[in-house]
Amino acid sequence: MLISEIFHSIQGEGELTGIPSVFVRTSGCNLRCSWCDTPYASWNPEGNEMTVEAVVERVASPDTSTSSMLGLQKLETSPSPKQTLTA
Ligand code: SF4
Repeated sequence: MLISEIFHSIQGEGELTGIPSVFVRTSGCNLRCSWCDTPYASWNPEGNEMTVEAVVERVASPDTSTSSMLGLQKLETSPSPKQTLTA
């Protein structure tokens, strides 16, 4: 799958607000929300093709207890979303 970016930050939403987290942003979203602030993951998709195993390896860190996937709309159009999510 095309991955736009993987970065560490503090969760800013929901029950895990304030918890250090790693974020994985997929690229290639086919929606065109007027409020989109990540055109590099939507209108002009950028990133690198990565396997699920490679993504898991990147996010595995002893000092990060949670991870979040961003831009999952892309999985609606990927060839095998169920396989991607369960791998
Ligand atoms: S990346 Fe998010 S905000 Fe941007 S177009 Fe897709 S769904 Fe909308």
